[in-house]
Order: sequence, then structure tokens, then C-alpha cells
Amino acid sequence: MQGIRLCQGQWWVSDTLEVATPGPDETLVSVRFAGICGTDLALAAGYYAFDGIPGHEFVGVAETGPLQGRRVVADINLSCGRCDVCLSGQTKHCPSRQVLGIKQAAGVFAEQVCIPTANLFEVPDGLSDELAVLAEPVAAALEVLAEMPKPIPESATVIGAGRLGLLAAHVLAAAGCKVKLLVRNQTRALHVQNRDIEIVTHIKPSSESWVVDCSGSVSGLNAALAALSPRGTLVLKSTLQEAVGIDFSPVMVKELTVQGSRCGKLDQALIWLASGHLTEPEMVSFGFSDIERALAAALDPRFFKVLLRPNRV
Ligand SMILES: [Zn+2]
Ligand SMILES: [Zn+2]
Repeated sequence: MQGIRLCQGQWWVSDTLEVATPGPDETLVSVRFAGICGTDLALAAGYYAFDGIPGHEFVGVAETGPLQGRRVVADINLSCGRCDVCLSGQTKHCPSRQVLGIKQAAGVFAEQVCIPTANLFEVPDGLSDELAVLAEPVAAALEVLAEMPKPIPESATVIGAGRLGLLAAHVLAAAGCKVKLLVRNQTRALHVQNRDIEIVTHIKPSSESWVVDCSGSVSGLNAALAALSPRGTLVLKSTLQEAVGIDFSPVMVKELTVQGSRCGKLDQALIWLASGHLTEPEMVSFGFSDIERALAAALDPRFFKVLLRPNRV
């Protein structure tokens, strides 16, 4: 089958990838669209040693198993389901977990992929492929809300208008929070669809109680720590490739709380997307064989999301 391999930081298009065979608890899924995410670019830059088929954001059709014929998305954490951590409900922290297209598991930048059936979620009929492919990053954005007290804070600041930052801002605004979104590149501001999101280019020091860092950069994280008021909370969503030059002194001086946050719940993400909180954002799709153009587009601020698809579609 056709797909993409990542090998020592190099992207390769291949027509001779081995067709996956589902195990007893797995479903064979034909990929319709796969999203390129910052994590994929970070993998290529050496964030994790990963050789194989990358990709973890997708919408596809189940070819086997109980969801056969249905459109599906997946929870990317492939946990053992048996250890103490899993049995306590913290499956995303399973010490022996694999992560789809990120850690020890073949990903979705291929025509077909095998995924544990328990990880699959059926896409509601009314939801387009182009929105369903956002289920994984929306789930990660919804996890920000899960970290907050209820009722949620009246206002929050999101640092970074990459895909995750934009989604986090939309999720918070849809929940009734007044959001400031710190944007470095004004083109990114064009992707904001919610009038309750205020675009800002700087933030007053020590002025914010809740800051969500989605910048993926050391400067963004330093800006987040500087923006927080005493006893404020930083929700950390950034994946930093090189964490050099971070000034952690505000954490101690201002007695800040730092709350790490990673993946969220796919079923809730599908409900959120189906509720119409996001209308079709600016996307572009490329066949797998066009990976070079796709990677270039992934760095272009005009696109909210860059998708890959099997060339036959
Ligand atoms: Zn991702
Ligand atoms: Zn486990």
C-alpha cells in the first residue's frame, strides 16, 4: 500500500508498505484524511526517536470489526488495559502504552492502519470528514477545560495561535470564557471564528489568572509565566523540542501552579464538533506522494490545517 515513512528525520513516500493485518482485538481502517500536526514535525526534528509510519490525526472507514462500514476516529493512546495505572482509569499514562504514529505504533499516513477496536469512535453522520479529522486536537483542547475549576474562570489567555492554540481559544470561548489570544503572526488571526476571542499582540505582566501556553516555544512559555498574576495557573500544552532558556523564577516568586495537559476524550470532541462550534476552517489537502508540498503548507500561516490523503481519493 501507499504511505509515508519517517526514517531518521527524513520523509519517504512508499508504494510498497506492508498491508496491515488486524489482530483479534483490532480493526482495519482505511484512512480518508490524515492531519499534519506539530508533533509530526517535531518527530521529524528528533523529538522522539521514531522510525516508521507517522501520523495520528485522521478520519477513516472501518473495514472490519463491529464498526465495519462506519466512519471512525481514534484515541491515539494504545494502552495495555491491564496494569494498575490503566485499571485506575488513567489509561493515557499506561507505562507500556504505545502511541499511534508517535511511539512504537504505525500511524495513519498510509492507506490503511490497524487500530485496537476499543480505541475507535464512530463519527456522527452530520459531521464532515474535514471537521472529524480535527477530533484529536479538539480533544486535546477540551482537556484544558477539564483542568479548570467549575464554573470555569471568567477570562483566560491563550499564548500561541497555532492549530492547538486556536482550538483551545475556541473551546474556552464556546464554554463562556472571555479569551485573549496572543498572536505573533497576524495571518493566524484570520482563523478566529468566535467574536468572544480578543486578538492581542502583548500582555501586561502579572495581569492574568489563567494562561494556557500553546506556543510550542521557549519565548512563548516565558511570556506565559510573565503574564500570570500571583498564584495564577499555567496550563501547559506546549511540546518544546529544546527547553533551554526558560525562566522558571516566576513560578516560585509568584507562587504559580503549573498544570500539564495532554490528550483528551474523543467522544466529547466529536460532540463538540457536531455542535457547530467551528465552521469549516481553511484547509488544504495533498496526496501522500505530495508530502514535500504538504510539509511546506503546514508551515504556511494561511492554512488552519493541512491534510494528507491517499492518492486514490
Ligand atoms: Zn496532533
Ligand atoms: Zn496499562
